[in-house]
Parts: sequence; C-alpha cells; structure tokens
Amino acid sequence: MSTLNLNQLRQAFPILQETANGHPLVYFDNAATTQKPTLVIDAINQYYQQHNANVHRASHFLSTQATEQFELARSQVQHFINARHSHEIIWTKGTTESINLIAQSYGRSNLSPDDEILVSVMEHHANIVPWQIVAEQTGATLKVIPVTQDNQLDLSAFETLLTHKTKVLAICHASNSIGTINPVKEMIKRAKSVGATTLIDGAQAVAHFAIDVQDIDCDFYCFSGHKMFGPTGIGVLYGKSEYLNNMPPWQAGGEMIERVSFDGTTFNRLPFKFEAGTPNISGAIGLGAAIRFIQSLDSDARVQHEDNLRAIAIKRACAIPNLELVRQVQPTVSLLSFNISGYHASDIGMLLDKQGIAVRTGHHCTMPLMQHLGLDGTLRMSFSFYNTEAEVHHGFDCLEKILAAEKTTGNDSTPVPVSTLPDINALTESLLAARGWESRYRMIMQLGKQLPAYPEHLRSEQHIVPGCDSTVWLSHTQSNSASETITLEFSIDSNARIIKGLSVILLSYYNGRQPEDILSSNVETLFDTLGLSKHLSPSRNNGLHAINQRILAIAQNP
Ligand code: PMP
Repeated sequence: MSTLNLNQLRQAFPILQETANGHPLVYFDNAATTQKPTLVIDAINQYYQQHNANVHRASHFLSTQATEQFELARSQVQHFINARHSHEIIWTKGTTESINLIAQSYGRSNLSPDDEILVSVMEHHANIVPWQIVAEQTGATLKVIPVTQDNQLDLSAFETLLTHKTKVLAICHASNSIGTINPVKEMIKRAKSVGATTLIDGAQAVAHFAIDVQDIDCDFYCFSGHKMFGPTGIGVLYGKSEYLNNMPPWQAGGEMIERVSFDGTTFNRLPFKFEAGTPNISGAIGLGAAIRFIQSLDSDARVQHEDNLRAIAIKRACAIPNLELVRQVQPTVSLLSFNISGYHASDIGMLLDKQGIAVRTGHHCTMPLMQHLGLDGTLRMSFSFYNTEAEVHHGFDCLEKILAAEKTTGNDSTPVPVSTLPDINALTESLLAARGWESRYRMIMQLGKQLPAYPEHLRSEQHIVPGCDSTVWLSHTQSNSASETITLEFSIDSNARIIKGLSVILLSYYNGRQPEDILSSNVETLFDTLGLSKHLSPSRNNGLHAINQRILAIAQNP
C-alpha cells in the first residue's frame, strides 16, 4: 500500500506552520481555496526576480524567457488534463471567467429562442448566472436537473429533460457544497446523442482526482488554479479546437488580433484569440509549478488519504447528538456539510475559528441547492491531502468542547421586554471592559438573550435583510410625539446568535431616535471602537453592514 510522507509534505506548505487566533492553524477550507507549496511561491518570485517581461510581443532576451515559461505552463496544463493540443488551453482568471466566456461567446452566438440549456440544481452560482444571462439575451430556456434524496443528480429526470431542444449541458464534475462526484462521462455521452454541447465545471475536481478530457469527451472543461495549489487570478478554459475555432472572440484588444485597421480587423489564431490584453504571466507559471507538485505525489495514496480523513470526520460527526449531516453517497470528494440543530452554522464556525480551525459556513454560492435542501446554509469542512487524522480529531474535539460549553452557558435566547434594551453608552463601556476580543465576543453572544421579541406577523419574506449568511428579519414602527417629531423603533431577529447579539447593539444605538438623527449618526465609529470591523469575519461584517444599510434606508424614507 502506498502512503504519503505527511510530515515532509506539510513542510512544503509554509502556511501550515502558522497559527490562527493563537492556535496552530487547522485549515479545513480547501474547497474555497487550497494552500500553496513553496515550489509555487518560488516559481512566482523567480519569475518576477529573473524573467519579468511581457510575453509574445517584444523581441528581447527576457521576453523570450517569459514567453517560453508561459507557454511551457500551457503545455503542462494540456498534459495534466490530457488535452489533444496546447492551443485548446485558454488562460482565464478562473472557473467563473471561463464559464462566462463560453456563455457569451459560444452561447450567445449559437442559442436561439427554441433552445434549452440544461444545468443542475447543485451548481455553483458561477455555472448558473452566466446561463441565466445568456438565456435572457437569446430567448433560450434554462432547465434544471434535480437531485435525488441521496443528493446525487437525478439521472431519470435528466433523461426526461434531455431532448433535441437541449443545446448545452453544463454541470459540475464535483459539488462544492456536498461533495457529490457526478457521472459526467455517461451524461456527456447521452447529451452527445441529442447533439448538445457539453461543459464541465471542474473547479472541485482538479485538486482531488485525475482529469482526462479526451476520455470524458466534454467540449469544454473549466477550472481555477487557486483550488489546485496554484495562485489566484489564473484559471483554465479547455475547449475542443473545433469549437474554439468557430467561436467569436469574447473580449477584444491587444494580443487577440491578427491585423487591425479601420476597414476591418482579423483575429489571431488559437489560443490567443481568447486572450485579449496582457495575461497573468506569473499566475500561469505558478500554476505550471502547482501541476509539477501534484504530479510528484502518489495519486492513489492521495485519494486514499483524503477518503480516510472524510471517513474519520463522518464517524466523529455522527457521534455528536443533533448534528445533521447533509446526506452523501459515494463517490464524493473529501468534504462534509452539516448543521447542528439549535445553532446557526456561522456561530459554530466562528467559535471553531477562535480555536484556529478554519471552516466555511453559509450557502457556499449554491443557493438553489440550499433552497432544495431546506437549509439557509451549512458548515462545511473540506479536506486536502496535507490535512492529518490528528487535525480531524482535534477539529471534532474542539467542536464537542464548544457544544459542551454552550450547554452550560445556555443556548436559549428567552426574549425580554423592549424596555430592557441596554443604554448604548453603558453597553459600549461594558463591552470595552472585556479582557480581549474572545471574551467580548462571548459577551456579544450572550447579549443576544436581551433581544426584544420580534413581532411574529412580520417574520415574512419582505422583512428579510438580503446579504446576510443567516436569516435576518428587520421591521420598524414609528411614533409621532406631541411636537410632531417622528422617532423610529426597530425590531430585529435572526437565527444566528452572533447576529442577535450584534442586533442588540444596533437597536440600543438606533431605537427611539429621529430619522435625521439616525442619518447623521455614524455607527461605523462604534463598530471600530468595539473592534467589530477588525475581528468579525468578512461574511459577518457584510451581514452587519447589510442590516445597518436597511436601517438607514428606512430612516431615509420612514
Ligand atoms: N464552480 C465550483 C464548483 C466552485 O466550487 C467554484 C469556487 N467555489 C467556482 C465554480 C468558482 O470558482 P472561481 O471563484 O475560482 O472562479
């Protein structure tokens, strides 16, 4: 049996020796982006230190070197996915840009009102929204393959949806939020039988298993460098040359032309026709290095190890009462998605972060799938080959401790009457008196218990604040005093404890004030004073700002 030398492997990733919030970093957010080995970092540095020049155009020493390295990376990608030609590899910013390119170039020039585009309910927004836009532009219809109870693509529904009208089948190779690996080869074969063009979103596949685009016979395959140990800002669109040759350019400018004149312009050959402007040269070279790194590993041992991590995680997860795993059936990539009843995933995610454990919470850019599952999000742990069994056990030990501590401090948030909202100055003072962010954070969580009861009849769609990871309701009343001045009273509720706590701060700050007073106030200063902007995660900060924006909009137009 082959094995990985994990100690040695981990040494190759400098960031894995770092700490987070004072604890050794445990990185379980690999589906969002992977860490980078020294080899990749060095390749980028070396390019800038020794070879930096623009590619293809200039005729000097450095430019020749840069061009050679840049084109070498293209052929490394070609071999990595077994494409027939290196000109079938188009550099893009990432999966998102690759899909937009296909939708706008291929889709826009080939689709018409009677045509159908088939995607699945488990797609990332990057493989939904570009198709919605091109459907709108061309009059084509978007159809959606549902998933079964096992969260796998419903292949019998696929058979029904697949007709001679289907012009494009665009599905993911592996799901980023639930891990399902789809039977793309079989589905492509079926799609070909009705003459459909096929696109595979490989963003979650490339880091986990070997890809052979000739074997699966897709027309397009897309992925991002940063999810396979390479740099951000570089990605790949693979397309069969017979498709790419017949597609119009998407973006225009330098490099993609053959000849420009005001009488007419002709376009460059592949792959340059689709690479307008100066490309991400260091990114491509870094991605080439990432491929060399992946190829230096024993791929069977890698898959075995990742499967083992997932199996351990599932076992530990199943031992936690009230933990609700999103159902998975093999094959899947190495991740698991779950919720713990009584808690919002983002609260648990933040508490794990305080222990140095990085996980992802939210809808993972798969809102339609979350709606189908009846969830507003999950907590996702996604593993890579550099994670260890000890890390998985440590992650779940911490999770168990967090839940035990929550039980003793109490997780219920019995509402109290509105009059008991704390005075904002006293509240600020007591929060500032907390020793360190950790205890201030706990105080904010506890504060959620003082959130006044939210009016049940206003718990409706129109009162939901968009832009928050959790569900947040906000409503208001206004009172006219004898002097005819209006004052506003807001009510907020959320299914995330941290948002309940933050809402107490907002309500204490705003309630009872006049609209003009609200508009001229600056709550951001308070956020800064309390360290919220610095310490809350970006998604929490976005949520807080979305609530604040809604309050300001109401004050603007009470
Ligand atoms: N598709 C899938 C399945 C993904 O997981 C992601 C990234 N989460 C994307 C597309 C978009 O990738 P990028 O942001 O790198 O363009």
